[in-house]
Amino acid sequence: MTSFSIHGVGVSSGIAIGQAHLISNALLEVVHYQLPMHLIDDEIKRFSDAIATVKYDLEKINSSLRKNAPAELSAFIGTHLMMLSDKSLSEAPKKIIQNEKCNAEWAIKLQMDEIVEQFEQIEDNYLRERKQDVIQVVERVIKVLLGHPSQLATEQQLSALSEEHKLILVAHDISPADAIQFKQHEFAAFITDVGGITSHTAILARSLNIPSIVALQKARDLIRDGELIIVDGKQGVVIVNPDKNILTEYRLRQEQWELEQQKLQRIKSTKAVTLDGINIDLFANIEVPDDVTAVKAAGATGIGLYRTEFLFMNRREMPDEEEQFIAYKKVAEAMKGDVVIIRTLDLGADKQMNPDTVVTCANPALGLRAIRYCLSEPQIFHTQLRALLRASHFGNIKILVPMLSTLSELRQTKLLLERAKLSLRKQGVLFNENIALGGMIEIPAAAINAEAFANELDFLSIGTNDLIQYTLAIDRTDDAVAHLYNPLHPSVLKLISMTIKAGEKLGKSVSVCGEMAGDAKLTKLLIGMGLRQLSMHPSHILSVKQQILHSQLSALSANSRKILNLTDIEKIEPLVAKLNRIADLRMHPRP
Ligand code: PEP
Ligand code: MG
Repeated sequence: MTSFSIHGVGVSSGIAIGQAHLISNALLEVVHYQLPMHLIDDEIKRFSDAIATVKYDLEKINSSLRKNAPAELSAFIGTHLMMLSDKSLSEAPKKIIQNEKCNAEWAIKLQMDEIVEQFEQIEDNYLRERKQDVIQVVERVIKVLLGHPSQLATEQQLSALSEEHKLILVAHDISPADAIQFKQHEFAAFITDVGGITSHTAILARSLNIPSIVALQKARDLIRDGELIIVDGKQGVVIVNPDKNILTEYRLRQEQWELEQQKLQRIKSTKAVTLDGINIDLFANIEVPDDVTAVKAAGATGIGLYRTEFLFMNRREMPDEEEQFIAYKKVAEAMKGDVVIIRTLDLGADKQMNPDTVVTCANPALGLRAIRYCLSEPQIFHTQLRALLRASHFGNIKILVPMLSTLSELRQTKLLLERAKLSLRKQGVLFNENIALGGMIEIPAAAINAEAFANELDFLSIGTNDLIQYTLAIDRTDDAVAHLYNPLHPSVLKLISMTIKAGEKLGKSVSVCGEMAGDAKLTKLLIGMGLRQLSMHPSHILSVKQQILHSQLSALSANSRKILNLTDIEKIEPLVAKLNRIADLRMHPRP
């Protein structure tokens, strides 16, 4: 086995060593061919053998489940086994092979299409969604028929696997809707062929707190299922079939990394205060209510961004007011009075409700996204606003509006918020009448006009992921331009600075909730520029806090001002590196 390495863009640090688990769309590989009469019996046998293999695999996984594995895992495998035993899957394709004289893969695919169509007619949401199980079972059978190496566990089964069998997810691409499902399972790492550094898929990968690399180009073609691979999330390197020495070296590095992470735990309950006594709020970004556990574990003092759109994904119907209310209330209550900033629906561009949705507009990132979408669908927006207001009675909720570009969008939003309040008042439903309304500054137009927005809002939150995308004209999801993504571009820094100054002038708080906030290499610059609130994925809180504890704001402010006056990235980068060293020297003075 030859060893080789592939380079991509590291989006989440750490080192993982494990077996490659290729997520393939076996259904796409199915071809149709005709068979001569004398081969039909063999083909039917090939089909029966494949069904038997899959059954055997599933039974084996079922019996090896750990005692404390979630009950739904066993139920999930049970459902698949039941489906395999059903005549519609185990017998009907044989008739198709016989009648159509076609290959087994094609026969089961035809049968699956028919079953899926029947499922689509079912009114009940839950039962209708079971068609996914049919598709997954058929995929397993097709993989066996196509001769894919022994079937590894599907995502739902992964959590049952033991430490030595860590799996590394290898995919061509993963939609944010798919990635959110992986949150519940234990992958050791996550690598994809495409994707930009701040694509929502990358953000989710980071939130899983496992090493992740995107933009590997051909990983999915070069790596085979079950191969041993090393993922170095910091360097953006994947090593396939490493030799003994490399393996030893990386095991050592992995241990060091884990040791550093453990050391960071010591500052979990320490307040994020600079050496000269300035307090910095370190908030967390979340995607689903269950993320609150990670927020608490990281010692975050609030939630600075709850991306509600993930509640709307992987489904055909919008969540109703009650479902939304329950989710928002759960987070508010769990945070026990700490701030919870909930962002209104930011659907569109790379975040579609249904992963199968084909985006037809030419420039989805410039299209009907976020607040634009909500204003064009006032009923959907009204439902969410009512749910948010109702939940505000149960905790310290603030509302955040994404992607504002004009004041008129803000004013329309305010009118709709008033309408939602009125409807609740009429029904005598309790809510926080003074709920704070903030706006995301993530379009250059909003940053340039930040004073006007600050004037009409309670707080601002800078979404640097989109701000960089729109300022530098770099599609966040396009790996071909990933190398141009640079948060230190002077124009990006100037827009951030303008927003901070607007907030200072009007006495409104300004935070950063884009990925820049969680990059410890940028912490000193951001606080030096005047930011006192940063919101990031929980996994970054401690490394950012460590930077703050080592910071002398007076020195940082003067140096940050110098950086802001520069116009050339090449001069900015070394100065930011120097800025990080200044405070380090203060902490460890030269003898
Ligand atoms: C951002 O754009 O920086 C942001 C925080 O929002 P999202 O990444 O969800 O677009
Ligand atoms: Mg954004």
